[in-house]
Amino acid sequence: MRYVVTGGAGFVGSHLVDRLMAEGNEVCVFDNLVTGRVRNVERHLGHPRFQFIEQDVTEYLSVDGEVSAVVHFASPASPIDYLNLPIQTLKVGSLGTHKALGLAKEKNAVFLLASTSEVYGDPLIHPQKEDYWGNVNPIGPRSVYDEAKRFAEAITMAYHRKHGVDTRIIRIFNTYGTRMRREDGRVVSNFIVQALAGKPLTVYGEGRQTRSFCYVSDLVEGILRLLRQNGDAVIDGKDIHYPVNLGNPTEFTIAELAMEVIRLTGSTSEIINLPLPEDDPKCRKPDITRAQALLNWQPGIGLKEGLGKTIDYFKQD
Ligand code: NAD
Ligand code: UDP
Repeated sequence: MRYVVTGGAGFVGSHLVDRLMAEGNEVCVFDNLVTGRVRNVERHLGHPRFQFIEQDVTEYLSVDGEVSAVVHFASPASPIDYLNLPIQTLKVGSLGTHKALGLAKEKNAVFLLASTSEVYGDPLIHPQKEDYWGNVNPIGPRSVYDEAKRFAEAITMAYHRKHGVDTRIIRIFNTYGTRMRREDGRVVSNFIVQALAGKPLTVYGEGRQTRSFCYVSDLVEGILRLLRQNGDAVIDGKDIHYPVNLGNPTEFTIAELAMEVIRLTGSTSEIINLPLPEDDPKCRKPDITRAQALLNWQPGIGLKEGLGKTIDYFKQD
């Protein structure tokens, strides 16, 4: 099988590339390195089954030969990154998704979109099920990411309905693990880096907002299962082309996360409270009933184990 992975030099994309390479597939990565790093895919450079193309995916994508699947992961993903890169984020979600879909159509390949729980915005339904349409501020600072991903979902469904492209959409909930950048600003990497340095852990607001954290290897397993699910399965009237939540449904407050990181690192850091960012979702927890039924998938790595692996990584990084 030959896979094209956009954003394959990023955190999640590079873990997916590792799995695909280990299985003996051919892999072609497109990445402009705006938030990714060559070192994430360094071990594969020069391998005859691996190709790295440094390119902005909002430009025309050209690949020789057959392609089995196009997996579209390119996009800044951490709030700090997409707030710093608002136009690039909108462009990669819209123009980049259009180009990646065009490649899938041309090659008669399966297409998988990495969408996000952010399409639910600051949700009024808890936990979030795929049939919830969301509560997104279309002009707030986070809208560059949320609306780009909502557009990406819309154009993906349109390519399926109009052109018959065999599409999949995953809505990824907060995922963490090795290869996160220490400066990417997401809560797990921030807290671990701060705790290991003995600096204060920066809890935004009172820390009562919740998130549900999925370890990256669990996510990759779910992605591969959906990519390879080509049956006629229909759950609640929705076939495999409709979005699937992938995440860990065990919910924590951000204050609880901070305490757990301090405990697991043995740090003497204190916790300080900083202002809550605008439109920061108050709660987030995936309903994964659909993924369980469709893919027989559920995460296996709990927060303690996953944080342990991530702490070990940051100790070496
Ligand atoms: P990341 O920033 O580590 O990876 C994104 C990759 O895309 C980077 O390598 C970056 O250089 C590349 N990229 C960005 N714009 C590009 C462009 N125009 N052309 C080519 N390459 C480009 O982030 P991540 O956490 O690995 O996220 C990967 C995908 O998963 C994103 O689409 C993100 O929206 C989605 N996602 C991630 C999470 C999470 O918790 N990690 C949650 C929801 C959704
Ligand atoms: N957060 C925090 N301290 C930090 C970074 C983030 O309290 O140093 C909070 C943030 O306000 C949000 C949650 O942690 O409520 C998760 O933030 P993250 O940036 O990881 O991702 P989000 O889920 O907001 O996309």
